[in-house]
Amino acid sequence: MRAVVYRGKNDLRLETVPVPRIGARELLVRVAVCGVCPTDIKKIQYGTVPPPRIFGHETAGTIVRAGARARGFKIGDRVALHHHVPCLDCHFCRHHAFAQCETYKRTGITAGFEPAGGGYAEYVRVMPFVLPGVVKIPGKNSFAEGAMLEPVNTVLKAVRRLNLLPGDNVLVAGQGPIGLMFTRLLQLAGARVIATDLMASRLRLARKFGAKWTMLASQPEKAGRAVPCPPSDSAHGVARPAGPQLSPCGVAAITPRGETLNPQLAARGLDAAVIAVPSDDVVRQSLAWLRGGGQLMLFAHTKRIAPSLNPQPSTLNFPLDLASVCVDEKDLLGSYSSDFTLQREVARLVFSRQLDVRDLISHSFPLEQTAQAIALAAHPTPDSLKILVRAGAD
Ligand SMILES: [Zn+2]
Ligand SMILES: [Zn+2]
Repeated sequence: MRAVVYRGKNDLRLETVPVPRIGARELLVRVAVCGVCPTDIKKIQYGTVPPPRIFGHETAGTIVRAGARARGFKIGDRVALHHHVPCLDCHFCRHHAFAQCETYKRTGITAGFEPAGGGYAEYVRVMPFVLPGVVKIPGKNSFAEGAMLEPVNTVLKAVRRLNLLPGDNVLVAGQGPIGLMFTRLLQLAGARVIATDLMASRLRLARKFGAKWTMLASQPEKAGRAVPCPPSDSAHGVARPAGPQLSPCGVAAITPRGETLNPQLAARGLDAAVIAVPSDDVVRQSLAWLRGGGQLMLFAHTKRIAPSLNPQPSTLNFPLDLASVCVDEKDLLGSYSSDFTLQREVARLVFSRQLDVRDLISHSFPLEQTAQAIALAAHPTPDSLKILVRAGAD
C-alpha cells in the first residue's frame, strides 16, 4: 500500500509499505480521510520523535477486515477512530486526568513502524485497547465529519473544565478550526463569546459559529502593550481605529461594527478566556481582563521550553503576579487531548450538525500531497482552515 513515511525532520516520503497484518482482536480499516493536526505538524517540523513513523491520527474509513474476536464490528462499517483510549481504572483515570494515563499515552493505531496514528496511509491496524474508541459514522454523515470527532472532543473537554454560567462572557483568542469549535461549543453552553483573530475572514466565520462580538487583533509587534482604558462614556459602542485594540478595561474596546456592548461587560471583566493561539502576549493580556475568580484556559501552549533556554524551571515567558492567582483567585488552567467519556456527546454534536464541522474544512489533499497539506496547515492563509488528507474516496 502507499503511505507517507516520516524519515526525519521535515522529511516526508511517499513509500510503498506492507498492508498491516491484524490479530484476532483487531481491525483493518481502509482510510478515507485523515485530518492534519498541529501536534503532528510540530513533531514533523521539529523532528521531536525518532523516525520512521507514519503520522495522522484524525482518521475515518471503512472496516475491511475484522479479527474473529473483534466483537461488534463488521466489514463495511464506516468508522471514526481514536488513537488514544484510557484504561478508566488507574489513579489518573479515577481523577479524570485521562491524558496522563499510561494506557492512554500508548498509540493504538498504526500503518507500520512505531505506532503514530498511521492515517497518512491507505490502511491502518486498530489494536484491541483502542477498539472502545471506534465510532460508527451514520449514513447521512461523511468520512470528513467522522475525522473531526477527535479534535472536537479535545475542545469539549476544555469547555467542560470551565465553570460557566449562562450569559458568561468568554474570550476565545484565535479563530482557527479549534477556536471556531470553541466559539460554537461555548455558545451552545450559553456563553457570550468574544472572538478575536488576526484575520478578518476568520472573524466572519466566528459570527457564523455563534460569536456575539468579534475583534480583529493586531500583531504583537504592531500592538505593543495594552492601552489604558479610555474615558468611561467613550468606551462603549465606539469601534477603535487601527493600532492597539484591547485595553485592560477590556472588553469595552471590543466593539465591532459600532455595536454597543453591555456596559456591565466592561465593568465585570471576562468570566473566562480560552487561549487557542500559542502567544504569551495574549495570555498576559487576557489574564489582566479576567474578573476576580475568572478562568484562563491554555489550549495552544504545547511546545515546551528547551531546558537550555530555561535553566530555572520557574522562569516564565512574562512576569506573572502570583497575587492574581492567590488574591484575585484567577485560575490558570490547561487542557490537552481528548476525554473518552465525552465521546457519545461529541458524536451527537457533530453528526447532528449542531456543531457543523463541514464549514471548518477548507482543503483536502490527496495522499501523495501530504507534505503540501502540512505546509498549508502550518502557515494558514485567509481562506484556509481545517485541512484533510484523502487516502481514498469519500
Ligand atoms: Zn489531533
Ligand atoms: Zn488509566
